[in-house]
Amino acid sequence: MSGQRALVTGGAGFLGSHLCDALLAGGWSVVAIDNLLTGRRSNLAHLKNEPRFEFVEKDICQPFNAGKIDYVFHFASPASPVDYTQHGVETLQAGSLGTFHALDLARKYNAKYLVSSTSECYGDPLEHPQKETYWGNVNSVGPRSVYDEAKRFTEAVTMAYHRYYRVDTRIARIFNTYGPRMQLNDGRVVPNFMKQALRGEDLTVYGDGSQTRSFCYVGDEIDGFIRLAKSEEHLPVNIGNPNEFTILECAQYVLKITDSKSKIRYEALPPDDPKQRRPDITKARKLLGWEPTIDLESGLKMSLEYFRKAVVEEAP
Ligand code: UDP
Repeated sequence: MSGQRALVTGGAGFLGSHLCDALLAGGWSVVAIDNLLTGRRSNLAHLKNEPRFEFVEKDICQPFNAGKIDYVFHFASPASPVDYTQHGVETLQAGSLGTFHALDLARKYNAKYLVSSTSECYGDPLEHPQKETYWGNVNSVGPRSVYDEAKRFTEAVTMAYHRYYRVDTRIARIFNTYGPRMQLNDGRVVPNFMKQALRGEDLTVYGDGSQTRSFCYVGDEIDGFIRLAKSEEHLPVNIGNPNEFTILECAQYVLKITDSKSKIRYEALPPDDPKQRRPDITKARKLLGWEPTIDLESGLKMSLEYFRKAVVEEAP
């Protein structure tokens, strides 16, 4: 696929910027679009002198055109619970209007298309681990619905463009991903714990910490996207790490790798916080020959330098 031109919406975000790097490394030219609501220019600063890279500051909820493209990677959306709660309407707009616009471009240029969806489509799952065939348990009017339903709608529009207009689409369902370039203050569990441990503050565990998540290192996640992008699968594929941890275990790993003396402080569990999350990745294994290679402790160690620097830079 090298030598071609890719468009990455949400290209200044945590995942979007890593995806830009991977595409450039694979020989692509890349145009990243982002309105910088939650994305950051600093995530792309290292590409300043890259002739095959271009950044456009634009809101994809307005129709846009970035010229002829061969592949659309639609990654634009606030994605952390803190961010999408703060920007609820914008999140719904990115998932609806933004998705129509991204798909319209793919259709116009006969480009391939891959969209980032989420394990939030499964809501607070009653089936465990979650297979792609599980339809989910989502509260359509709860505080998380602005994200969950936006992404479910994104999937529906994507399948409609595939079925009605024959757009060559793919859907990645992402499970909790972490690594360098996560915003220190996006409220997600890994940046929160890293920041707190490095500052010697209490680690805030919500609820009793028995809820589970399955954490995927960003490098593994991006490798999964690239493989899916090259595949011919149109239905959703889980791209996540099936190793499941309680949030308390996650806190303990962070304390260990930061060598921190911080204590744990229990706080109220946010409403509708899913009790468990773990992908069944049989489909990705069979179809893409993909599975994660980096365990949680190693991935946290690989992220440590980034978080140390971010904490120092943030200090007054
Ligand atoms: N969490 C926590 N302390 C924090 C931040 C998050 O205990 O400081 C918990 C949160 O309640 C959830 C899990 O960690 O059960 C993952 O939260 P996150 O916001 O990272 O993502 P989610 O999977 O909920 O979208």
